[in-house]
Amino acid sequence: MNMDITAIERHLRLFGLPTFITLMGIAGMVLLSEPAEAVSIASSAFSPVANVLFPVSAALAFTGLVWLSWSLWQLYRWKNGNLVGECHNCGGVMSHKDGRYGTYRVCKMCGAKREG
Ligand SMILES: [Zn+2]
Repeated sequence: MNMDITAIERHLRLFGLPTFITLMGIAGMVLLSEPAEAVSIASSAFSPVANVLFPVSAALAFTGLVWLSWSLWQLYRWKNGNLVGECHNCGGVMSHKDGRYGTYRVCKMCGAKREG
């Protein structure tokens, strides 16, 4: 078994947020789609809210899935050496960030940082 900490960090960086968003969306959809027998007076007063929140949750889950597949696609291309990023270290895609000391970039694949 290969315990590559850098790989774990990379996967968290790539898939952490989209996975979280997808799970939130799915959780919202599950919570808002209760069976009809469970509908009481209290929850029927809540139903207009649920009618709005359900599509929002569905959109959230959809966005998360699209993002997730995009990250997978990037990882796949990076592993095959087809991804031409700006990282001097590994050739990965860098994300631009605004730090306290100005703008900098963080590599999404290896975590290398540099200014600019
Ligand atoms: Zn890199």
